[in-house]
Amino acid sequence: MTICDPLNVFLSATHARVDLDQYERNIRILREIAGLDRDFMAVVKGNAYGHGAVACAGAALHAGATHLAVARVSEALELRAAGIDAPILLLGGPNLAAIDQAVDHRIALTVGTKEAMEAVQAAAQRTRERPVVHIKVDTGLHRYGADPELAVHLAQTLAADDRVSLEGLYAHFSSSDEADEEPTRRQIEVAEATLRNIATAGVEIKYIHLPNSAAIIKGRTGNSNLVRSGTATYGLAPAPDMTMPSGIRPIMTVHSTFTRVSTLPVGEGVSYGLTYRANAPEWLGTVPVGFADGLPRSLSNRGWFLVNGQRCPIRGRVCMDQTIIGLPAELACETEVTLIGNGEDDAMTVDTVADMDGTIHYEVASGLSARVPRIYYRGDNVVGWVDAVAGVSKYPHEG
Ligand SMILES: *Cc1c(COP(=O)(O)O)cnc(C)c1O
Repeated sequence: MTICDPLNVFLSATHARVDLDQYERNIRILREIAGLDRDFMAVVKGNAYGHGAVACAGAALHAGATHLAVARVSEALELRAAGIDAPILLLGGPNLAAIDQAVDHRIALTVGTKEAMEAVQAAAQRTRERPVVHIKVDTGLHRYGADPELAVHLAQTLAADDRVSLEGLYAHFSSSDEADEEPTRRQIEVAEATLRNIATAGVEIKYIHLPNSAAIIKGRTGNSNLVRSGTATYGLAPAPDMTMPSGIRPIMTVHSTFTRVSTLPVGEGVSYGLTYRANAPEWLGTVPVGFADGLPRSLSNRGWFLVNGQRCPIRGRVCMDQTIIGLPAELACETEVTLIGNGEDDAMTVDTVADMDGTIHYEVASGLSARVPRIYYRGDNVVGWVDAVAGVSKYPHEG
């Protein structure tokens, strides 16, 4: 039996590698598809879908993104604290209790209700800043936003208020990743009719932005002069059956090593509940990754990790912090183990994991927890890293 220390890559042997060159290539391809005359908002909410918000935001701007988008005031503040100065839009309804902080940090706010509008006006009064506002019109997703009629009223009221700067009107598609174009076409129609009514009321708005990743790729962009993209920038298809434009590839892989390599005698079981038992003596490798890192427990006895190009099955239950796999032979503890690959080898991908877990890759990638350090690469060079739990980081844009 070999017992060894976890490889001290940074603080944890289990880590994600994020290819920032590929991320920038993905963004450049998407910008070209959307048309270079349109502005480009890189969506980095949910810790950049699990890839790490600060590093991705910096790279997105380098690749020509003109705007960033997040979902929480805290996410916007993280970017500002890291020195990112670009326009940031808070998608969805803002937490009204945090509006002053958002305004103080020049975070553009979404307004989709009368209450949100009044809260922004009050914050403008208190802070003496001039908050940028985008109106969200609900064109059929029925999640957040103003009905078209209310949207016109909000636009008129905000345009008449010098304390705020009304800059955008947007909507979000429900079904732009689906073959049936009709729901998207209708949503575009409602949004553009709303914009026309706003114009008729004498209000001009700089940006209209409807498309998400799927709509950009399918060319369902309407008259938008700004597009928003999240998933495709990370190289992940908006829907499993969507073909991605050539050149776009996933940017993140997840790796580890073993904390122990051992043998399982015939008849003995592995992990909680001993749900796997050896029929023949078997080599096992213990990997320091579990559901607290975002590896779904539903992969117990179903998933696999890739070692030396070979699929090694997960034996027994995935634990909170550790997972055991079957090995073809005795291996050194420092052997590289690939937990999630980018589709170019036999490793599981975020799609494989999502399939097994009955979900979509968005949940798998964004569910990769803060405990997993993210290491940023350009080519073969490490250009930055974040271990959010340890509070250790070196961001690429800091040089
Ligand atoms: C998350 C989100 C996006 C990005 O969608 P993708 O499909 O990941 O490109 C765009 N707009 C809004 C309002 C969102 O919430």
